[in-house]
Amino acid sequence: MIALLLILGIALVLSLFFTAFLFARAYVEARGPRAIVCPETTTPEIVEVDARSAAWTSLAEDPAYRLVSCSRWPERQECGQECLAQIESAPDGCLVRERLVKWYEGAICALCGKRFEGIQWFSNKPGLLGPDREIRGWGEVPAAELAEVLGTHFPLCWDCQTAETFRARFPDLVIDDPRPASPRSRKTRTGSAA
Ligand SMILES: [Zn+2]
Repeated sequence: MIALLLILGIALVLSLFFTAFLFARAYVEARGPRAIVCPETTTPEIVEVDARSAAWTSLAEDPAYRLVSCSRWPERQECGQECLAQIESAPDGCLVRERLVKWYEGAICALCGKRFEGIQWFSNKPGLLGPDREIRGWGEVPAAELAEVLGTHFPLCWDCQTAETFRARFPDLVIDDPRPASPRSRKTRTGSAA
């Protein structure tokens, strides 16, 4: 009897751990801003879903999504959330972080030619070089411009972003290397911008 209870106890603990693992994985997959096209205005917008609710419901069936933020709120907070159909059809495809990871994947820095390997989103986040050679960080890109920026800007590594921002801010403190630039220094992205 004790052995049976022990086996049942172990099975219960294992199932709880497994459920917690599934919940955590679904939560991580569901959270984060997503780029969608608003069905009402056909404008690109940024939304976020209730990741906790999506993770809970995913344990029994397909995750049920519900918006918790949208770049059109609070003006249009009472909308029908029809954009959820886009998220349901491609949960990962519209995640902004997934789009940016793919955009930087295999690309090289527009200034130094260094190839991007494993983006560090929490510390040394890469930036962008505009067609007018303006340096931008992702925090400066409005939601509505995301798709356009991916097509018109070039990837910039964190080192170059920091150096060029410093140069623009304190031009008198920067002394350029007199040696000629290497041939690869003007190479830009090799893949197509998403
Ligand atoms: Zn660089």
